[in-house]
Amino acid sequence: MKLILATNNAHKAKEIQAILTPYYAELATMREAGLDIEVDEDGATFEENALKKANEVLALAQDFDAALADDSGLCVDALGGAPGVYSARFAGEGHDDAANNAKLMDVMTNVPERERGCRFVSVIALARRGAPPIIVRGECEGRVLFGPRGTGGFGYDPYFYYAPLGCSFAELTEADKNKVSHRARALQALQAALVRD
Ligand code: IMP
Repeated sequence: MKLILATNNAHKAKEIQAILTPYYAELATMREAGLDIEVDEDGATFEENALKKANEVLALAQDFDAALADDSGLCVDALGGAPGVYSARFAGEGHDDAANNAKLMDVMTNVPERERGCRFVSVIALARRGAPPIIVRGECEGRVLFGPRGTGGFGYDPYFYYAPLGCSFAELTEADKNKVSHRARALQALQAALVRD
């Protein structure tokens, strides 16, 4: 059985590989499979986006039995769940992490500590030929900081305070973040779903 990963991120691919090797003898990223497509992430939910990506990649990757895609983002309570599926383009199309973080700080300026709850969400979809898709979700609860802490990670990590470890995600090593992150939790849920299947 052959699986294609709708990601070219080597770190994500390595994590996913460790979990899926018992189920899929061969794993390839899109680049390794010679596929270069951009899927429009225009769904209203992480689930819609992840499944759309997985389905579109599987439709193009005829040699493969399954395709795995993920969609993730930050949901802030005080903003009604925003930026959510718009996390990568919170400050507008073509903007980077710095602009997105500046906008987050701007809109959260007057939000008091007790109302700064938020969560990182990761949804993974596994589209399979001849079998129903598997869709799983992992979440990690935190608080939006008033300013950046730490230099590691990416995206909103410097502004995401993780109380159980008393630090921001950008103050964790990659290995430590990978033990508790929303993505790690989604991957655990995927493993459990495959065992049940
Ligand atoms: P995507 O799932 O690759 O489309 O990522 C969406 C956006 O969510 C990223 O550009 C980041 O801004 C944000 N995001 C997702 N996961 C993380 C994380 O682990 N740390 C920080 N930001 C994240």
